[in-house]
Amino acid sequence: MWKDLDISLEKAVSMKDMPAEENLGFGRYFTDHMFLMEWNRDRGWNNAKISPYTSFSMDPASTVLHYGQAIFEGLKAYRGKDDQIFLFRPEDNFKRMNKAAVRMSMPRFPVDQMLKALKGLVYLDRRWVPSAQGASLYVRPTMIGVDPFLGLKPADNYLFYIIMSPVGAYYAEGFSPTRISVCTDYVRAVKGGVGDVKTAGNYAASMLASEQAVERGCTQVLWLDACERRYVEEVGTSNIFFFINDKLITPPLSGSILGGITRDSVIKLAQSWDIEVEERPVAIAEVLEASQSGTLQESFATGTAAVISPVGELLYQDVSYQINKGETGPLAVRLYEELQAIQYGRKKDPFGWRVTVG
Ligand SMILES: *Cc1c(COP(=O)(O)O)cnc(C)c1O
Repeated sequence: MWKDLDISLEKAVSMKDMPAEENLGFGRYFTDHMFLMEWNRDRGWNNAKISPYTSFSMDPASTVLHYGQAIFEGLKAYRGKDDQIFLFRPEDNFKRMNKAAVRMSMPRFPVDQMLKALKGLVYLDRRWVPSAQGASLYVRPTMIGVDPFLGLKPADNYLFYIIMSPVGAYYAEGFSPTRISVCTDYVRAVKGGVGDVKTAGNYAASMLASEQAVERGCTQVLWLDACERRYVEEVGTSNIFFFINDKLITPPLSGSILGGITRDSVIKLAQSWDIEVEERPVAIAEVLEASQSGTLQESFATGTAAVISPVGELLYQDVSYQINKGETGPLAVRLYEELQAIQYGRKKDPFGWRVTVG
């Protein structure tokens, strides 16, 4: 099936005007082209194409619109020296998406073929990869169930597509720490649920808590475990790290946490610098005590969008706990600079994370 899958190319007749790099924001503009392919139970993957960016028409009964059969990924392309373009660990994103496909009863796809398609798409739209420091081209692979049928069962027809959006530097106003609200009212995910895969409903379910955090003057929510509300899980859509007594500590991937690629990169970098890393349950009480006793040296969140986001303050049951006097710590800075240097091709890539496009 896949063996005979050719990717056809329909180029856009007219190219879009590009927005100014200073006000890209996040996810507001889209490039000239997109990748699309279809799957059905009889034929498998078929009709793969790169075509002009366009809207879909869909049956109102489509599976995704009612039962949320939808998974996605997020990764970035970076413009380096001599206009070379790099992707960061793209195979890991596609492998993670296949894991999500299995959990959501959706079809898997061959990672190597998808990487070729992605490279082709990024190369075709390479003028959209921004050159400003910290800016990048955000890539959003997505898969949805599209049967025109209201019965509850896995769809027999799927659409896989990749869209791309130029995004500005996350830290336009400097690498400043955030204020985070520890959420005790709602939970994000339970073990055995779908919190460890990027499926659409997780994000819909998190919006109310995020809105309430913003009302409290915080930028995001720190989620606790669903059973006891005792252990730390994640911050918003990022993984969380604490640097306590010179040990870098992060919750383990035990089923309710998304296995971030930035998280994995931070662990490997820290270990290569001889920093002790512990993946183990972290009680919120331990973090708050460490903040009060002065042993909590730093905390930061990790994810593709911001890379490293320092946490300067935790708000727990209306009491505020400062971290590193509300300032960005040296480990967060070092990790951020090292990761960016690898991503933009300014440094050697000892882990083989960078993939050159074209
Ligand atoms: C995407 C995501 C992350 C971060 O993953 P990266 O691969 O580092 O971008 C963390 N938590 C959640 C819930 C996510 O959706």
